[in-house]
Amino acid sequence: MTALPLTIALSKGRIFKETLPLLAAADIVPVDDPETSRKLILDTNQPDIKLVIIRATDVPTYVQYGAADLGVAGKDVLLEHGGEGLYEPLDLKIARCRLMVAGDPNRQLQLSRPRIATKYINTTQRWFADQGRQVEVIKLYGSMELAPLVGLAHYIVDVVDTGNTLKANGLAPLEHIADISSRLIVNKAAMKMKHARIKAIMVRMAAAVGD
Ligand code: AMP
Repeated sequence: MTALPLTIALSKGRIFKETLPLLAAADIVPVDDPETSRKLILDTNQPDIKLVIIRATDVPTYVQYGAADLGVAGKDVLLEHGGEGLYEPLDLKIARCRLMVAGDPNRQLQLSRPRIATKYINTTQRWFADQGRQVEVIKLYGSMELAPLVGLAHYIVDVVDTGNTLKANGLAPLEHIADISSRLIVNKAAMKMKHARIKAIMVRMAAAVGD
C-alpha cells in the first residue's frame, strides 16, 4: 500500500531551525536548506513528504485550507488567526516568548481611549474588550517599538523574549497577555484521512519535545 503524500508548512528562521531536530526525530529531513535555496517547496528524505516554506503568519491559512496537512506556527500567530479549520495537538515548546502590552514605564497614561500599535489587531482588540477597556488599535507590520517614541501610539502589543529590544527603546513590558511557543497544527480533514501517518509523526515529535 502506498502512503498518502504529506505537505508540512514551515516558516524560515527560528521556527525552521528549531523544528528541524523534531522533524528528524520523525525521520523527516529536508534535502535543501531554505536559508540558501530559493525553492518554496522543499523535498525531504521521504519522497512523499514535502515542506512548503512560507511567511509565519500564512502557516495557519495554508493548513486551514488543506494546502498543507501539517504546520508549525507560533501561538501568537494562532491566536491572531483564530484557529478555524485546524487542530493544535502538540506544544513544541520552541521559540518561546510572551505576548505583552508595553509602553513607557515613566508615563503611565490615564487616557480614556489610548492608541495601541500592533500587528496582532484581533488579539489586542479581544484582550482590551474582555476587560471593558476602550482602545484604538493601529495595525503595524513591524518595528512596533518605534510607535510610542514618535507619538503614533501610547502603547504597543508585541512578543517579548529578553525584553532587550523594549529596553533599548526606553520601553518596558506592562501587562502579560499570553505565554507563546510554537505549536504543531493539523488540517482537520487530513487528521481523519491521513490519521495513521500523522499520528505516527505526532508521537515521534512529542517524544522529542523535552520539558
Ligand atoms: P527581545 O529578546 O525581547 O529583545 O526580542 C527581540 C525581538 O524579537 C523583538 O522584536 C521581539 O518582538 C522578537 N521576538 C522575540 N521572541 C520571538 C519569538 N519567539 N517569535 C517571534 N518574534 C520574537
